Parts: sequence; structure tokens; C-alpha cells
Amino acid sequence: MITTLDGVIEIGLTGGIGSGKSTVADLLAERGAVLIDADRIVRELQAPGGSVFAGMVERWGDAIVSADGSLDRQAVAEIVFNDEDELKALNGLVHPAVGEEMKAQRKAVLGTDAIVVLDIPLLVRADGTSDKDRYANLSGIVVVDVDTDIAVERLVEFRGFSEDDARARMANQASREDRRAFADVVIDNSGPLGGLDAQLDDAWAWMQSLPHPAPEAEATSDDAGETAD
Ligand code: ATP
Repeated sequence: MITTLDGVIEIGLTGGIGSGKSTVADLLAERGAVLIDADRIVRELQAPGGSVFAGMVERWGDAIVSADGSLDRQAVAEIVFNDEDELKALNGLVHPAVGEEMKAQRKAVLGTDAIVVLDIPLLVRADGTSDKDRYANLSGIVVVDVDTDIAVERLVEFRGFSEDDARARMANQASREDRRAFADVVIDNSGPLGGLDAQLDDAWAWMQSLPHPAPEAEATSDDAGETAD
């Protein structure tokens, strides 16, 4: 259970793979939002020297280390793909550490008038449900929505996915409709990048208009979000 931070507005930002969450998050940061991005934190903790990297190497050894010393994500994916126990072990290493770091970043803005944007890829689960208690801290939810074929094109063109892989990953996530059902604001990212500015101006104005949550006890959860891994 997460309680609200003392007076700080926290917004959940979510969307399917390749929908443009990071792009939208950056545009919100330009407008003054403080970003907390679970995936970015995971990447930092999984970089050589990071606490999660060390824990993973302890469990799976050099098989998950690339020649350049960084984490071999493909090797990790292969280990956990069809093995529930290994996946559980991975989550057990990643989630608590990420939760701690997110908590630290959230606490750092206590007592300020910051608007915090939490990038939470899995805010809506694959079955179309969400966990209200887990996200009780959120004053609102922004969903980045994009036409499926366009998202696939972008993942193939800019991110090196094969079309099959992109579609398979999408099929394992919540549907656009399910995600939109949780949205206070939907950002349509099916058009060119320039089409985002006006939408983001409106979204930012909406965030600023939200009442600051009443002061409550400090955050009690280990985790304010969930990663896409
Ligand atoms: P992931 O689910 O992997 O975290 P994401 O939802 O954060 O992805 P982005 O990384 O923001 O999505 O966008 C996916 C790719 O599409 C990026 O290469 C980004 O530059 C590009 N992109 C995003 N929005 C647009 C747009 N409106 N027009 C063209 N390219 C875009």
C-alpha cells in the first residue's frame, strides 16, 4: 500500500510498448515535471557496479555477462522466459531494489510543490485490471495511446524489433481499450511528434490544476511502480 506524499501531486504515466511513454515523459519534464522512471532505474541498477547486477551475476554467473562486461539481456531473457522459478528469482532481485530507489526519489521531493510523473508501464495488467491500493498515491493517470500498427512500425524502425516480436509483446500486454479505461487524460501519439505539444500543454495545465493531496503518513510501500521486465 502506498500513501500519498506530503502534498505532492503524483501522476501515473502508462502506455503499451513503443507507445511513446518516454517521449511524453521528456516533454512533461520540459514543462517542469519531476520524472521517476522505473525502467530507467532498473537499467542503472543493472549496469556493472549496480546492486542488482551484482545479485544477478551471483545467481547466474558469467553466462549473463557480455564480452564488454555489461549485462547480456538476451541471456537473461532466455533463462527466465519459460521458467517460473527463475523469473521469480529475477523479480525478487529487481523489484525490491527498484522500489527502494523509487521511494528515495519520491522522498526527495517531499515538501516541494513538484508535480511528479511516475512512468509505470504495467499500471494496467495484461488482463485489463489494475491494483487500486498499489497506486493509491496517484492523483491522476495519463495514458499514451497509439495505433497498434504505428507502434509496431516505430519499434521496428527505431528500436530494432522484428515485426513478429513487437506484435507478440503487444499481445502480452493490456489492450488499448483496457488501458484507456483507467485514463484521466489520453495522449494520442499516432501522429507526428509535433502533434504532441498542444496535447502536453493541456495535460500539464490539468496536472497543475489538481488539488495537492492532503498530508498523510510517509510512503509505506517498497514499490511505487512496476517495471516492464
Ligand atoms: P517502451 O515501451 O519500450 O518503454 P516507450 O513507450 O517509452 O517505449 P518511446 O521510446 O517514447 O516509447 O517511443 C518509441 C519509439 O518511437 C522511439 O524511438 C521514439 O523516438 C519514437 N516515437 C515516439 N513518438 C513518436 C512520434 N509521434 N513520431 C515518430 N516517432 C515517435
